[in-house]
Amino acid sequence: MKRIITLLLILFVSFIALNSQENESIKNWFIAHTRFLSDDITEGRGPGSKGIEIAGKYIVSFMEYLGLKPAFNGSYYQWLETRGSKIIPEKFDIETPKGSLNLDFFKDYVMTSNHSEKEVLLKSVPLVFVGYGIKAEEYKWDDYKGVDVKGKILLFLVNDPPSDDPKFFDGKGMTYYGRWTYKFEEAERRGAVGALIIHITEKAGYGWDVVQNSWSGEQIFRKGTENKNLKFNGWITRAVAEKLFESCGLNLLEMMKRAESRKFKPVSLPLKMNVHFKNDEREIETANIAGIVEGKSKKDEYIVFSAHYDHLGLKPDYPGEDKIFNGALDNASGVACALIVAKLLMEDPPERSVIIFIPTLEEAGLDGTKYFVKNPPVPREKILLNINVDSMNIWGIVSDFVLRGIEYYDLKGVPERLSSKLGVKIKPDPNPEFGSFFRSDHFPFAVEGIPALSVSAGNEFVGKPSDYSDKIIWDYISKHYHKPSDELRDDWDLESVIQEINFVYQLTREFADSDVKPEIKPLTQLYYWSKILRELP
Ligand SMILES: [Zn+2]
Repeated sequence: MKRIITLLLILFVSFIALNSQENESIKNWFIAHTRFLSDDITEGRGPGSKGIEIAGKYIVSFMEYLGLKPAFNGSYYQWLETRGSKIIPEKFDIETPKGSLNLDFFKDYVMTSNHSEKEVLLKSVPLVFVGYGIKAEEYKWDDYKGVDVKGKILLFLVNDPPSDDPKFFDGKGMTYYGRWTYKFEEAERRGAVGALIIHITEKAGYGWDVVQNSWSGEQIFRKGTENKNLKFNGWITRAVAEKLFESCGLNLLEMMKRAESRKFKPVSLPLKMNVHFKNDEREIETANIAGIVEGKSKKDEYIVFSAHYDHLGLKPDYPGEDKIFNGALDNASGVACALIVAKLLMEDPPERSVIIFIPTLEEAGLDGTKYFVKNPPVPREKILLNINVDSMNIWGIVSDFVLRGIEYYDLKGVPERLSSKLGVKIKPDPNPEFGSFFRSDHFPFAVEGIPALSVSAGNEFVGKPSDYSDKIIWDYISKHYHKPSDELRDDWDLESVIQEINFVYQLTREFADSDVKPEIKPLTQLYYWSKILRELP
């Protein structure tokens, strides 16, 4: 008996040791990858920079070391042609009934232009307030009633109409109609020449500084996606919008209230806009990266595991000393996770193949992944599922994980099985109001009809108060999100990173080892959005 107990004890201790050894190795790999990828030498991994090339070579070297099969005809790279465009503002003023209002770039507004004209000059163009700027058949909603907006500049509210009814614009959740991308796409479809969103922090979920950092400096557009009508799109501050409405004898809050009704009609404002800017352009090549872990028995069925490696780059005009947007959490940490998942899979290959996909241009409108799903390295119908990670959990051990998008799919019991195996809860996005489903690389997969999930830790932190999750999210967004200070720090909780890596590895493994084919549920919101989005280049 004593011998058996001793034997069991030895087994148990060695199991723990093995496990902790493996965890120790995961931790070391994670730190090594993240530290290198977010080092100043990679210059914030802005597409077109030397820095992102160095980061790319690091990733490819590691894939080569692991023995992943190059995904693109013998190459790990899928090159994309893009255009870098930097706006040089000359004039941005608005003639109001109370005189002219001159706006300052960065302070009052920011804008970009995905139009091929090198110099844009617009004189006395009328402004139309279109509320949320949404036309959605499923909600019987039309903000463009009876108005031709061709040749005009549109003024939008951010997000979608507020609601507590889950059947109406997804209640407190954000629908695709709430995203700025939709609004600008709609402006282009309707022939407007300009589009401006009124930034309201509480409705956007992030501050004006995030808008400034994201939309000033060089923007990158994939070739072939140029607008035909829309010459510029931008954001103005709430204070500017208040002034504009006031000058017409109107009030922003009242206009917001009006826009919340189905009866809302667009308002032609007594405002004329003069816009003059130059577009400083350069050609940029940037690459998606992918390697394949070949499956043992079902080689030609694929799970795509993705994590973007691009970030905002180096912005010479950014105020303050630090100009490098290191993007350690967003998303060097996710790439590190993807490389570790690749390593674990190579050590014990699954039945199906797994493509480790490291896209570029995530921060430039998910364009790397959009290109990948339209030009996949394997037949698209053989891609069964996408699992995406973007920024790891560095805040503590959780008892729940989120699979963003889970509500749109029939995953054939896999999450339930995994949940009981690992003893963690698996749930949909607890903060759908941020519209995260539209904001990372799983989304283009979803649009193309490939089931896609974005994984992140949930909001139930072990041993922490219930408001901890909201606090850390807001603290991170206001201090580090899309800022130069997103750097690898000593206070990152690496135990929770290991927990998440183990979770996504197990999730990938479950799908890669099983026979199940995830399916799309009919007539969810995803159906309506993808219908609109699939038309785009
Ligand atoms: Zn990201």
